[in-house]
Amino acid sequence: MLYHSTNNPTHRVDLKEAILRSLPPDNGLYMPCSLPTLGEDFWKIWRDLSFEEIGYAVADAFFGEDVPEEALTDIVDGTLEFDAPLITLAPGDHILELFHGPTLAFKDFGARFMARLMAWLTRDDDRLLTVLVATSGDTGGAVASAFHQVEGTRVIILYPKGKVSGLQEKQLTTLGGNIQALEVDGTFDDCQRLVKSAFLDRELSERLNLTSANSINLSRLVPQSFYYIHSARQLPEGVKPVFVVPSGNFGNLTAGLLARQLGLPVEHFVAATNINDVVPAYLKTGNYQPRPSAATISNAMDVGAPSNFARMEALFGKSWEAMRGLISGLSYSDQATRAAVREVKSLHDYEIDPHGAVGWLAARQWRSQHPGTATITLETAHPSKFLDVMEQELGQGAVEIPERLAILANREKVATPIAADEADFKAWLNQQA
Ligand SMILES: *Cc1c(COP(=O)(O)O)cnc(C)c1O
Repeated sequence: MLYHSTNNPTHRVDLKEAILRSLPPDNGLYMPCSLPTLGEDFWKIWRDLSFEEIGYAVADAFFGEDVPEEALTDIVDGTLEFDAPLITLAPGDHILELFHGPTLAFKDFGARFMARLMAWLTRDDDRLLTVLVATSGDTGGAVASAFHQVEGTRVIILYPKGKVSGLQEKQLTTLGGNIQALEVDGTFDDCQRLVKSAFLDRELSERLNLTSANSINLSRLVPQSFYYIHSARQLPEGVKPVFVVPSGNFGNLTAGLLARQLGLPVEHFVAATNINDVVPAYLKTGNYQPRPSAATISNAMDVGAPSNFARMEALFGKSWEAMRGLISGLSYSDQATRAAVREVKSLHDYEIDPHGAVGWLAARQWRSQHPGTATITLETAHPSKFLDVMEQELGQGAVEIPERLAILANREKVATPIAADEADFKAWLNQQA
């Protein structure tokens, strides 16, 4: 299969280049030249398939031309070593728990698939692959965990100083080995800008054999569409879900659009954001105005210039009307989010993290305006990753900390501080070559 840039349909590359280069030279995003669908045979039996079987069918639709069956099966099975249970809080109010992976956030799905696919694509190369990743909190941990001790790779993580939670920071800075963390004196958008600047510098990018692990990388999105199908099949037959997606860079929501493109029956998508509401504002007005991000308690969604927006536009033929026909946007303040954390606990005895809480608010608003619909809210992280907020709202000890997170508390942080300056960052990178 060939891939083209969203900025230029005639710039075409193969799978290896699309995945390892991540970003086309014209600063667009890679998309498959023809979007795959799953055939009638699949949609006849999809409700009876396992998570792995669904994963394999989806991966095969995208990558089957390039990756042999046995390798692809290993990649999918290695990715899906944990489940994504669908919980029902009340009739029509479903929560899809995506936090059962090693770093307790949905990003484990994308990162694990990507690490395995990249390892396969570079199996005959002898150059060190340098994975560069900007994180607003959870990406870095997922990518670090997925690549840790993978031979022939090293990971450089950029994270905004003081803007990730304590345990998130430990996930980024305590693995050692082939994982390095840079603590950037700036925002997530600065981190993302620095990463982009390194890629756009062709000479540097070639010399360091740079690749990106951000959700601009297509191989992170495809495995995220597995769980849209896996969760929808658990609703009663004939019920089309409304997916409510707590969003920042909009990779997760774009994966939902890919699932629908494959043939999944979807009623609607709701993009739920905190006050960083660039996309909800666009859906309302038709004006797309990226702006600097503001810090919130749902920090993984503090994004002012969502990196997957170009893909969303491409999927709707750049039509605002078409996009708003399928996606609605709703945004909430921290105050409303905190109240929702308390309300979900008191109504349903369920601890929902601040990102999921933003989604839950949007789902409730949607159902109240569309009675009888079934919402599936993606719960993107385990509440213990945001312990401060959870304990402020629910009291000390309200959230159990899973063992794999608890053991990080006593490990020592190792990070290199840098300024949010492109020249400084490139100079530092040059020293790593
Ligand atoms: C990354 C992240 C998000 C936002 O996902 P996007 O794909 O960037 O929209 C939401 N919640 C949590 C917990 C995350 O880690």
